[in-house]
Amino acid sequence: MSNIPPRILVLGTGGTIAGAGSGGTGAGYRPGGLSIEVLVGHLAALGLSAELLPQEIARIGSQDIGFAEWQALHAACMGALADPSVDAVIATHGTDTAEETGLLLDLTLPTTKPIVLVGAMRPADAVGADGMRNFANAVKVASDPAAAGRGVMLVMGDAVLAARDARKAATSSIDAFKSFPRGSLARVTPSGLDWFGPPHRVGEAARYAFPTGLPRVAILTAGAGMDEQPVKALLGIGCKGVVLAGMGQGNAPASVITALAEAAAAGVPVVRSTRVDEGIVDRNVEEDDDAIGLVAARALGPAKARMLLMVLIANGVTDAARVQAGFDG
Ligand code: GLU
Repeated sequence: MSNIPPRILVLGTGGTIAGAGSGGTGAGYRPGGLSIEVLVGHLAALGLSAELLPQEIARIGSQDIGFAEWQALHAACMGALADPSVDAVIATHGTDTAEETGLLLDLTLPTTKPIVLVGAMRPADAVGADGMRNFANAVKVASDPAAAGRGVMLVMGDAVLAARDARKAATSSIDAFKSFPRGSLARVTPSGLDWFGPPHRVGEAARYAFPTGLPRVAILTAGAGMDEQPVKALLGIGCKGVVLAGMGQGNAPASVITALAEAAAAGVPVVRSTRVDEGIVDRNVEEDDDAIGLVAARALGPAKARMLLMVLIANGVTDAARVQAGFDG
């Protein structure tokens, strides 16, 4: 094993991990208040054996992230993957949309070097702040060559989660993320890292080309007693795809399903996900997807189903069978 410390590109986007101004209480703070240089400086004080190369992409709350930031993040990651002097990438990120950014990068980056997203639930100046520990854990993961081949990962709460499986499941707990259908890939602390199995990704290549833009895709949450008018409204504003955050196994009132089937027949792909916290949505359980042309989201919740559907449509995949294959993969 080489004694040369790994060189890690650290991309800053903002979020609570860079949050400041809370006066110790964790309230009333500004996500992204600290620059990535300051964060990396805090970490350097821990004496971790890694060379960190800070680069600022943005300093925002991740509720405001969008295509421009994703494009910059992807380009910076591609640069690092092509640069033999860089061993890995860490991106600091707000937790609100870490699952969307994580999945987008997972779908569109090769797996040749570790790519790690990290966030925090408490601002950097709050009592009991978790950001520096999560950051130190992310450095531990990114420094391990065995982290390559696992796709994009999220490090939070002493756990390493596959971006495809991770979702935010609590608004303020420092254990805010859950992993489904697989559990976490590893346990990590600043001094230890235990992988629970070998890398799971097949092949090094990116699954999809990074898009030149993302289409308008909406999430429609089903509610008891609703009618089909919201579906019509979404089509009326030019949605190119719809994700149903359905009841149970992706269900909705009959008139809503009929309107969604009409949208699918008109060439707007429709994916049935669930508003339930966790679980698989399968094909042809209560709805006859084969007959009505809808797609089952399988293990992806609404936010990630929307991201995958946007990437598929941007890559020219709109036919229900091919969209389904994307969700099955
Ligand atoms: N809403 C902010 C964001 O997602 C802060 C939440 C957080 O980072 O935990 O960036």
